Amino acid sequence: MSATATAEARTLLHELTGRAPAGVWSAPGRVNLIGEHTDYNDGFVFPFAIDARTVVALGARTDGRIRVVSTFDKTPVEVALADLDALFPGRRDEVVEWARYPLGVAWALLDGRDAATAGVDLAIASDVPVGAGLSSSAAIEEATASALDDVWGLGLDRIALAHAGRRAENEAVGAPTGIMDQMASVLGRADAGIFLDCRDFHADTIPLGFAAADLEVLVMDTRVAHAHSTGGYGERRAACERGAAILGVPALRDVRVDDLPRAQELMDDVTFRRVRHVVTENQRVIDTVRVLRGQGPRAIGALLDASHASMRDDFEISVPELDLAVETARAAGAIGARMTGGGFGGAAIALVDRERVGEVSAAVTSAFAAAGYAAPHLFTVQPSDGARRDA
Ligand code: ADP
Ligand code: MG
Repeated sequence: MSATATAEARTLLHELTGRAPAGVWSAPGRVNLIGEHTDYNDGFVFPFAIDARTVVALGARTDGRIRVVSTFDKTPVEVALADLDALFPGRRDEVVEWARYPLGVAWALLDGRDAATAGVDLAIASDVPVGAGLSSSAAIEEATASALDDVWGLGLDRIALAHAGRRAENEAVGAPTGIMDQMASVLGRADAGIFLDCRDFHADTIPLGFAAADLEVLVMDTRVAHAHSTGGYGERRAACERGAAILGVPALRDVRVDDLPRAQELMDDVTFRRVRHVVTENQRVIDTVRVLRGQGPRAIGALLDASHASMRDDFEISVPELDLAVETARAAGAIGARMTGGGFGGAAIALVDRERVGEVSAAVTSAFAAAGYAAPHLFTVQPSDGARRDA
């Protein structure tokens, strides 16, 4: 799927430098199978890397400068590596937003090191749709991090590359996101998910078995724009912190489903429902891994459905378009379906028998038309390998 992006990145680098790249690296976007708004509560998530990738073609420079260019914006952005520290985070407004991602990664990787001063040209192209909740941001971060780690000989492990990407996104870009996306992008494996503990960052690779069971993951991008900066995300985080404080625990990760009746007596209804989502969602992530191991992928449908209901009713982060996509997919024969990502728009996923993908897609498309919504973007994704050097 990333053959096009690879060719585009190579061409773009050639246009910029007049030479072929010294190397090509890529990293995937991701889908979160289950575990929403659990990451910042020190809980569990279960994403997988997808077969849409962002590609970085790299050319070497000898002048200690970094230049980035993307097929999204072919105007190169150039800065001396030695000036990155002055730029981030305080003066990030001087850098066009998209370039904060790759330059922010360079800044995060160089932090505290003065040895690596070889300059680079980076040309970036991508198959990952932007803003659809598939984490094009982690893909650009981890493709860049992998490339720079290699050419600068930093020898960082995958977890360190994930942390550098997150730091770039939090501090250089200014988006308050968790570590899930970057971990999925570096740790992904074909036909496997990453069961991640967001407290200690312990990650287990869990075979999904979708391919062997003739199952597909259908992404239903509603095209309703989601944004981290709108109030909803911050309000949900605050409610979780409030709930944890009332219960006297460091994070909602420390609350069990059995504790919920007592919790209900201690807090207002809205805070309680936010807490209940996180606590039950954490349990659903653990249950999904257990059910996959014991019964196989066809048995996880009810957990996906329950996750959606919890986000719709308790966490209140769904929108009518997401609900319609989920309900229609299920009615048309999906094994399970849920919205995925932060909410307030973006995409839903459905686990569907391969032979029913056409039917389910057609049902969702007509339901959107009948409701007067803009046509959704529907496509399947395959659980795929994480960041790597391609050439
Ligand atoms: P997503 O859900 O896709 O991660 P984000 O808002 O987190 O959405 O990140 C999208 C942003 O990342 C884009 O607006 C752009 O600034 C940057 N970005 C992602 N991919 C690329 C790319 N290939 N080239 C340039 N910028 C990119
Ligand atoms: Mg993102």
